Amino acid sequence: MTTSSFDQKKITRYIRYSAAGQVSYGILEGSIVRELRGDIYTDAEPTGKTVKLSDVKLLAPCEPSKVLAIGINYKSHVGERTAPGTPRVFLKLPTSIIGPEENIVFPPGAGNVHFEGEMVVVIGKTAKNVLRADATKCVFGVTAGNDVSERDWQKGDPQWFRAKASDTFGPLGPAIVQGLNYNDLLLQSRLNGVVKQSQRTSDLMFDVETIVSYISQFITLLPGDVIYSGTPGQTQAMKAGDIIEVEVEGVGVLRNTVA
Ligand code: MG
Repeated sequence: MTTSSFDQKKITRYIRYSAAGQVSYGILEGSIVRELRGDIYTDAEPTGKTVKLSDVKLLAPCEPSKVLAIGINYKSHVGERTAPGTPRVFLKLPTSIIGPEENIVFPPGAGNVHFEGEMVVVIGKTAKNVLRADATKCVFGVTAGNDVSERDWQKGDPQWFRAKASDTFGPLGPAIVQGLNYNDLLLQSRLNGVVKQSQRTSDLMFDVETIVSYISQFITLLPGDVIYSGTPGQTQAMKAGDIIEVEVEGVGVLRNTVA
């Protein structure tokens, strides 16, 4: 019997949470959270304290200094456009990030706001001019994200600051997971329980290593920085009360409601 690389690696789930008025990082094992102290990217260690998952509020799993994203990275999302020759990188902002169960809030004048379910790469080591062959070492893990996008602004504005980086336009979580084969995971989005996007990350035109290497030629990536890797297929506009779920295999479900 063969064992896939998926089985051989140790899976670790990092979460960030608040409990009893304190914000902590922890490792999630089943329904138990093992609290950590120190920097999760370098020297975190268990405090010995545990808490039940049901007793904590999950927060976005990291606090990035930069939020990058790749446009048009699945063939199924290219549509009438020409497939790019290099990764199409754009910027979101750290202030756009929200955690699981937080509300997506449309800013004034937003009338065509779409979900974009994505796998998100979390950087673990400072990365500058990283070769593709070395990029894996700079990846801390992956999580799920929703690259919320106002399509009319995306078409009309010279920069995407409000189309892509408005407050609450970057749902992220629920956990950063290490040890997954992130270049072959099922990614699904569900709007009010109905599957709207479903594709494997093996269909990414630019894989995780290529994206990290490419971006690091221009920008120094720091631990905790995140890269939304792109969305597959078709998206659609959301309305108040909609529940949008993004699930990445092995990571879990990121659920947010439109306020
Ligand atoms: Mg996107």
